[in-house]
Amino acid sequence: MGVDDDSMPRFTLPWSAGYNPGGPRRLIHPTELQRRRVRCEPIVSRLLKLERELVPACNFCLSERRAIVAQPDRYGFPIRTVMCLDCGLYYLADRLTDDGYAKFYTDDYRKLTALFAGVPQSDINDIHADQVAYGKRLINALQGFLNFRPGARAIDVGGSGGQVGFQFQKYIGIRTTVLDPSPDEVDAARDLGLEGITGSFEKFETDESFDLILFCRSIEHVQDLRGVLAKMRRLLRPDGLLYCDIVDFTELCRLVGHPEGVAKIDHCYWLTQETSARIFKSVGLQIVMVDVSLPQPLCGFLLRPCEPSFSPLADPLRIEAQLRDHQRQSSEWQEWGRTPSDTKDWLRRWAYRLKRRLHASFMQKVQTTRCSSNSPASDPAEGISGTSDNPGAVSTGGQTWDASWASLKGAMVQLYTRSAPRTIHQFWQRRARYLKFEGAGRDVARSAKFIR
Ligand SMILES: [Zn+2]
Repeated sequence: MGVDDDSMPRFTLPWSAGYNPGGPRRLIHPTELQRRRVRCEPIVSRLLKLERELVPACNFCLSERRAIVAQPDRYGFPIRTVMCLDCGLYYLADRLTDDGYAKFYTDDYRKLTALFAGVPQSDINDIHADQVAYGKRLINALQGFLNFRPGARAIDVGGSGGQVGFQFQKYIGIRTTVLDPSPDEVDAARDLGLEGITGSFEKFETDESFDLILFCRSIEHVQDLRGVLAKMRRLLRPDGLLYCDIVDFTELCRLVGHPEGVAKIDHCYWLTQETSARIFKSVGLQIVMVDVSLPQPLCGFLLRPCEPSFSPLADPLRIEAQLRDHQRQSSEWQEWGRTPSDTKDWLRRWAYRLKRRLHASFMQKVQTTRCSSNSPASDPAEGISGTSDNPGAVSTGGQTWDASWASLKGAMVQLYTRSAPRTIHQFWQRRARYLKFEGAGRDVARSAKFIR
């Protein structure tokens, strides 16, 4: 268009950019993932008692054809994350029931994420600070689209403590409602002067229509993806706008290293830029703007109503390429797992190998001792020293290095076999759990036990 920058309206808002949710991202080493899972074990064992359900088909295209890309999830919870082979949507094939999720979000959600990340559980102030930064960045990103009629209404779905909605009310002047399942969060939103409604969007009933719907960092958590988006489309005014952001699954896998380090119980769906574009179109939402300047793998969409055009199926070649990609990621990740992740890990591996060698050597010694004790002439040292085959090993004093090593080994064998071998064995078994990455067999067995 050749628009001169100086002719563009300038928006000077009282904040600076630099929002970075989640901080810097990095690859998760298989050992590190294993350590994190061990930390999460107490909560995961609690979650195993919650009711679960099977998801028989894809929510978007209703196809039953799927490929498993991760099992168990990153917390070690035995559920399957699958990719629909017809439309490319990623979803949980096993998940908690509504009641299960309600309990999970109330009791364990924040604890579990903090344990996994190895950081203290974020308190309400941290969450609010994060939301304020997010809201301000979002308003900056949407400038130019936010010209609403007088008396316009906005709703922030899954709006938590209302900080994002509050920014819109304060700087854009649009009256905002916050809808969130948590009563505490809704109370916090009311304290900010917003209208607050407690409940889930699926069960939310209203005759109103909205000029702006905000659906931030929530789309992966819903249980009926298509239903929720269609309902949002219904609640939008004809000239209304919907803002929705996604975490691009394939991009996140690339950043983290493997779908197993990404998949999690609270994300019932994972979208990519391609699948989300198709889903939006099929429910009658047209993309007005895409924000790819967000810290990867986040991606924001500004949408407005249009005629729905149902075209759910993806290019089979693309699906195949995506699957191949996951397989490649998986093998590279496992290969990486065979190298130590840090000094501690190196020491653990070294100690484990040493233990295996000592154990093998002791066992050999025990067997030799047992065999030779059956024969009349039994001196374990005799078998090694003073033979004509190996004269170099014999010293004039009759005591050789080999012989003293053998007697030392003999003493250690006695020590090993007599003193609490069970404790030692248990200790090494525990070590081995850190070192074994081919633990998939165990995990599969565990999930098979729990899946109904
Ligand atoms: Zn599908």
